[in-house]
Amino acid sequence: MAKTTKHKIILVCENCLNRNYSLTKSNLTQKERLEVKKYCPTCDARTLHKESR
Ligand SMILES: [Zn+2]
Repeated sequence: MAKTTKHKIILVCENCLNRNYSLTKSNLTQKERLEVKKYCPTCDARTLHKESR
């Protein structure tokens, strides 16, 4: 059962809750929720983006 499951995740801006980025994770190597600082066009600033499902 070693199937690679592609897991789509969405990065949501913590400030305005906009869904700015989506990416796919292959395999559940990371068990913790992803947190990245990325540019948000709505906030016009770099904000913390959190993984959402
Ligand atoms: Zn934002």
